[in-house]
Amino acid sequence: MTKHLADLAHELRRIDGKGYKAYKDVRGGWRFQGGTLFVDHVQADPFAAPSKLRVRCDRAALRIPNDLDENATQRTALEDFLARRVHAAIGEVRARAKREPTLSIDAGGQAVLERTAMIVRPDFVEARVEVGLPAAGRRVLGLQAKDLLCDTLPELVTRSLAWSPEVDADGRAFVQCVENQEHVRARLREMGLVAFVADGAILPRASGVSDAPLRSRDRVPFESPDALRVTVDLPHPADGPGGTATSLTGMGVPEGVTLVVGGGYHGKSTLLRALEVGVYPHVPGDGREYVISDPDAVKIRAEDRRRIEGVRITPFIADLPDGTDTEAFSTDEASGSTSQAAALIEAVEVGARALLMDEDTCATNLMVRDARMQALVAEEAEPITPLVDRVQELYRELGVSSVLVMGGSGDYLDEADTVIQMEHYRPYEVTEAGRRIAREMPTRRQRPGRTAALRVADRAPLANTLDPSRGKKAVKIDAPTRERLRFGREDVDLRCLDQLVDVSQTRAVGQTIRLAAGRWMDGRTWLREVLGELEAVLDGEGTDALNPFGGDGTEEHPGRFARPRRHEVAAALNRIRTLGVRPAVAQTAEGAPELS
Ligand code: ADP
Ligand code: MG
Repeated sequence: MTKHLADLAHELRRIDGKGYKAYKDVRGGWRFQGGTLFVDHVQADPFAAPSKLRVRCDRAALRIPNDLDENATQRTALEDFLARRVHAAIGEVRARAKREPTLSIDAGGQAVLERTAMIVRPDFVEARVEVGLPAAGRRVLGLQAKDLLCDTLPELVTRSLAWSPEVDADGRAFVQCVENQEHVRARLREMGLVAFVADGAILPRASGVSDAPLRSRDRVPFESPDALRVTVDLPHPADGPGGTATSLTGMGVPEGVTLVVGGGYHGKSTLLRALEVGVYPHVPGDGREYVISDPDAVKIRAEDRRRIEGVRITPFIADLPDGTDTEAFSTDEASGSTSQAAALIEAVEVGARALLMDEDTCATNLMVRDARMQALVAEEAEPITPLVDRVQELYRELGVSSVLVMGGSGDYLDEADTVIQMEHYRPYEVTEAGRRIAREMPTRRQRPGRTAALRVADRAPLANTLDPSRGKKAVKIDAPTRERLRFGREDVDLRCLDQLVDVSQTRAVGQTIRLAAGRWMDGRTWLREVLGELEAVLDGEGTDALNPFGGDGTEEHPGRFARPRRHEVAAALNRIRTLGVRPAVAQTAEGAPELS
């Protein structure tokens, strides 16, 4: 028997003034003209986390055209666009309301991510929202709840989702902009690039705490050096629907080893930051829409005190004075250099194609060891082979490029394929000048004699070392902030994951680890294979596959997940302090680590 919204109104009137628990009576689906309101989860008391509802609208009634969700990229963009419309409408209701209803949708920031707050399907569109059900003390405010659930909410969502010529102009521009971005990203590899930065892009942000573009008149739009300028064709006009710009020009960052040099405050880190988040599409108007990086570009930094488990750091650190095994290196408190070596190896282990590093957040002793230090401290007494000695090999042997912000050490000039100098926020290509200086001023560094093979050893994570339970709950996973994941009783510090950009990704990371542990972490499946399986499931079922409550349409829904990359899932997993792995340790016949 279908219940109608009028029945819900009746129920809410009936429970007016009763104890708060009476709200449980309104769970279920309530049909209205053009859609259904689902009350999935009712909060236990007025102070608990808000209740979870879905408003599902019949797509035919909304008149959303069919040519805006023909592939996964378009659908993600359309969903994101619609979630933002609902978010804006909620903001207007808030502004008008006498008593502020606690109503929210997880609509995201500057990046466009696949998220569960909005679902577009051929036959329906569904917004997942959170509502604080009104109370006076611990009593149900039934009439207010009736206004909110039976009038405001269905009306607001339906109005936000309904298509019109004005919405079409914005929606089309949004979807096409995102599709353009993904088009460029998909072509980077065939163009031999790790990133593209369009002429005219606005890289600086409004402030340290705001991800919005810098609005100041002093902002300097990006302008590619001629020597690195490339042109990319776009499927849709760059200047919006009906526009005429069918291609874009900008700086191509080539594969290989790229140095970004320049004096302090000239915009080096700002460029690198744009490349870091350039793995995600951005909303029109962000300024970094056409700053596009390889999807497998990974920021690497030092992070002392982190946990490391079973990582073969030998290519960078071997022969520790206390005899510690570096073929499967574990520690509860990594140093700067070991943490950065591990981060680099871990990234390559799960498929990084480009490494992004900023000297500001690197361990100096892992980056370089200059001639004077080599003269003072004998090679035998130095466990570290610095990155400068392996960065070219990383590219030639493993196909992993590097983009290094390096204002302080010229020793890298010998290794660079491309040198970009930032000056007053403008990039200049200075590769030749760098080469000439490298020739004229030799560093006198010695090449290391014996170093272990630059081979990355796989690891197979063990599910039984990951316990998502806490207290009475079999699964308790949450994310108080973007940078902090609570997985069962473990508190996982994600502050150094610069490419985790949304707290909803952090929540999702926790659930992906739970899901992956339950299905594939049997101690025989390598981590990179586990992540492959996971991605196949998320590609097939969408981010809704993370729903920890199952999801037959009437059960509790998530609504607050955004899809993370495999790299952030792996990085979070690697930081769970209980994680155990079975390492693949290659041994030579004598049982000694293989040397090259
Ligand atoms: P560096 O890493 O070279 O020391 P940063 O990238 O940290 O320099 O930039 C220094 C300051 O300049 C920051 O406050 C940043 O917001 C600002 N800035 C960076 N790029 C631009 C730009 N294109 N236009 C205006 N200001 C910028
Ligand atoms: Mg800097």
